[in-house]
Amino acid sequence: MTDPRRRIPRTDHLLAAPSIAAAATRLGERRVRGAVAAAQEAARRGELAPEDVAGAVERELAGASPASLRPVLNATGVVVHTNLGRAPLSAAAVAALVDAAGYTDVELDLGTGARSKRGVAARAALLAACPAAEEALVVNNGAAALVLATTALAAGREVVISRGELIEIGAGFRLPDLIASTGARLREVGTTNRTHARDYAEAIGPETGCVLKVHPSNFRVEGFTADVPLAELRAVCGDVPLVMDLGSGLLAADPALPGEPDAASALAAGADVVTASGDKLLGGPQAGILLGRAELVSRLAKHPLARAVRADKLVLAALEATVGGPEAPVLASLHADPEDLHRRAERLAARVGGTVVPHDGRVGGGGAPGVPLPGWAVRLPESLAAPLRAGDPPVLPRLSDGACLLDLRCVPEEADATVAEAVLACTS
Ligand SMILES: *Cc1c(COP(=O)(O)O)cnc(C)c1O
Repeated sequence: MTDPRRRIPRTDHLLAAPSIAAAATRLGERRVRGAVAAAQEAARRGELAPEDVAGAVERELAGASPASLRPVLNATGVVVHTNLGRAPLSAAAVAALVDAAGYTDVELDLGTGARSKRGVAARAALLAACPAAEEALVVNNGAAALVLATTALAAGREVVISRGELIEIGAGFRLPDLIASTGARLREVGTTNRTHARDYAEAIGPETGCVLKVHPSNFRVEGFTADVPLAELRAVCGDVPLVMDLGSGLLAADPALPGEPDAASALAAGADVVTASGDKLLGGPQAGILLGRAELVSRLAKHPLARAVRADKLVLAALEATVGGPEAPVLASLHADPEDLHRRAERLAARVGGTVVPHDGRVGGGGAPGVPLPGWAVRLPESLAAPLRAGDPPVLPRLSDGACLLDLRCVPEEADATVAEAVLACTS
């Protein structure tokens, strides 16, 4: 009898099979060769019949994606979820991003054929959305915006900042370290809980490059506290530039988030430059946004570091479409009507069981710590969390008090049925 291993199909035969060749076009040759080699190896070990090798390769490649990041349904109720990539893009932003993916006129005036300035349309959209700003600049992320501002204004000099605002922004990154890395010296004023105008006044002098006010976006100090409002700080600063790091990226005040600072109000109160993230409450792609006085923002734009932190064309396209387009998903989730959330939770519970319980959503890493977003969740046994995460598509619930809570605030309503099917797949 011949060795069955001799019947294992050869690599060139497998690669020529129409469905496998099509997968190579979609996924790339290397990926397909890997799947072919793995299936042949399984057949050599006797784990797969030689006749099944082609089918195994086809099955392996059928569901494969060219990149490994997977879409996740966010059922945590946390709107800006750092581990889930912060803001989901609107359909308009996704379309703009796809349009910009090939050759695109990012630095070309198609009318004259001459070179044009990068990012003009994103800049115009930001200025239209925030008329209080004279000039706008988009960079890689919020941290880059802050580094650019402090480098250009204060390298070799001092950045005056309150001790109450020396925050860690997440994953171990600390703002004071970031600023120190630019070559600026931190001049800390006040105390953790209380900083007064006179503390700033005493510190500002010939060595001051800028005064920095940071919105402590991920925690709140309560009790015996004092903080200097921007307008008062403006008066103390004199000619020294006043930079405000907003973090969240709200361009205008949002009634759902009282107390959350926004660019328009900060500029009106006297900030010369505000810095913010594009992918928090603005609801766009990862980006850093600088808005403010024309003379200062233009100075930052001309600094050599601006080139190292410049925004990519995909980001510029998605940001323009977010700022000038329909309501971003982040804002839709933030403003979700509790009655609607209740109705959707009831409908989900009717299909999958569990009980509907009140559940507060949260803004998340993006800001407004401690501000509850009243809503509802379906309460299920905690043991469902792991299979839900491992499902297809993965569903991320909130774990609380030994239960698995499904909050539909950040799930598009058209995906409610998918969440229900995911739960049923885990329970049946
Ligand atoms: C999030 C945040 C940053 C960092 O912005 P990234 O876009 O994450 O780089 C800086 N400062 C504050 C106050 C923030 O909230």
